[in-house]
Amino acid sequence: MTKPNRIQRLTILGGGTAGWMAAIAFARVLGHQVKVTLVESEAIGTVGVGEATIPPIKIFNQLAGLEEDEFLRQTKASLKLGIEFSGWGGADDRYIHLFGNVGQSLGLSEFFQYWLRAREEGIAKDFDLYSLTGAAARAGKAERATGIRGSKLEGITYAFHFDAGLYARYLRSEAEKLGVDRIEGKVAGVERDAETGFVTALKLEDGQQVGGEFFIDCSGFRALLIGEEMGSAYSDWTHWLPCNRAVAVPCENGAKLRPFTQSIAHKAGWQWRIPLQHRTGNGHVFSSAHMSEDEATQILLDNLEGEPIGDPRVIRFTTGMRPEMWKGNVAALGLASGFLEPLESTSIHLIQVGISKLMSLWPDTACDPALAAEYNRKMAFEYESVRDFIIAHYHVNQRPEPFWRQVATMDVPDSLQRKLDVFKSSGKIYRDHDELFTEIGWFQVLMGQNFTPERYHPLADRLSRDQLAGFLGNIEQIVGKAADQLPSHEDFLASIGAPPTLKETAA
Ligand code: FAD
Repeated sequence: MTKPNRIQRLTILGGGTAGWMAAIAFARVLGHQVKVTLVESEAIGTVGVGEATIPPIKIFNQLAGLEEDEFLRQTKASLKLGIEFSGWGGADDRYIHLFGNVGQSLGLSEFFQYWLRAREEGIAKDFDLYSLTGAAARAGKAERATGIRGSKLEGITYAFHFDAGLYARYLRSEAEKLGVDRIEGKVAGVERDAETGFVTALKLEDGQQVGGEFFIDCSGFRALLIGEEMGSAYSDWTHWLPCNRAVAVPCENGAKLRPFTQSIAHKAGWQWRIPLQHRTGNGHVFSSAHMSEDEATQILLDNLEGEPIGDPRVIRFTTGMRPEMWKGNVAALGLASGFLEPLESTSIHLIQVGISKLMSLWPDTACDPALAAEYNRKMAFEYESVRDFIIAHYHVNQRPEPFWRQVATMDVPDSLQRKLDVFKSSGKIYRDHDELFTEIGWFQVLMGQNFTPERYHPLADRLSRDQLAGFLGNIEQIVGKAADQLPSHEDFLASIGAPPTLKETAA
């Protein structure tokens, strides 16, 4: 075995969410042997959106050493129990994609097979009522309950909505305490080794040179190192996901702070509402082939729940990813590596996954291409499985507008078509390997959008009708009682010293 020639200098380009997440994680895990430097330009700034997350963010925050209550206060965060989709199936439809499990499996069969049968027999309540996370979301309640006393049912599974700018600032202050050097400046050029093609230094406008043996490109959509310098190509997925613009504007909060993200379908895209302690983040994601920026902006402004704060801002993007996210001694994270619209709040998660895989394949200074190839293979799987889930939301819709008819009738990736075919015929969801979204997640979205299977699994017939009614009724009752005990979302935040600012309503 040869002694590794260890990397001693890691240089990160970019100080958005991706850059600071990478900086703190590498400083924590490899800081004893790697000096971490981050270069960012305040003049360029960050993308300034990206505020809804999914539950694994808690694992990242733990790794970063963030204490949860302090994190909630610092980033003006709220709890997120899932995403409510309105108007996706048909114009008046509504469903919620909850985090965590729903109900309880019985024998070899998932809970949702029993629910499908009960629905067929007219004795099922709404699916979300069989989960404490769901009952809490419905009632505007939220807390960190790990279980329900006296039962095996799951407690509350949550993630966060947070202010992306405050999160990056908080990560920065903690990373600097760990010895990360931050250099303010605009990168104007790059030094490369003539023989290996490896990047050796970033050249800043003011003449400074920042060297390194490994570089992480977190320069956002510009993809300065991985794209412009290393020539890593971009796979464009617009033919499956035609939305290519978002217009965003924050507004004042309404009278309540919902503990979930809202996703509201409009005629050529959808709108997000993300409630934070001090404001609500709003955006309208749309296809420029089907709607002008002016019309999209007007639809957004017409659908705010409070006064806008500042002017609406349009962000242009191309959905897709770089098959070579790691090339030579440069790996890209965040927007520089690829982009999937925020329908299921997955971008920050993909940064987290990228960091963890990069750490587990951490090279020496030779940067063996086999490690890069493995990383690229694994990240492509992550991106593609999220992509399929997002396409499914669009493909399975009953809306009449031209945009929605186009996505309903297009060919989808084979990997997705297989899943849809199996579900349609049997109510079964098959997850490939350890793909991110669970069977229950897929089930909620497909059923929520009226993509109903032709039959449920025969194992769900093992209970008599009375037993089935008792089984479901019991779960609903336990969940309902537990939900009654929970504080409101607003009271929960106040209890940790983070009371939200809400619109005052007449008594
Ligand atoms: P950026 O924030 O763009 O940061 C780029 C950094 O590079 C900046 O610091 C910039 O100054 C620096 N830089 C660039 N060029 C130079 C240069 N020449 N010299 C020096 N520095 C330079 N994700 C979620 O998980 N949930 C969401 O709800 C969500 N919503 C989104 C909504 C929209 C409309 C969009 C577009 C994205 C959303 N995302 C969401 C994605 C999320 O915003 C990004 O994944 C996340 O912010 C990471 O961005 P970044 O750090 O890669 O890039």
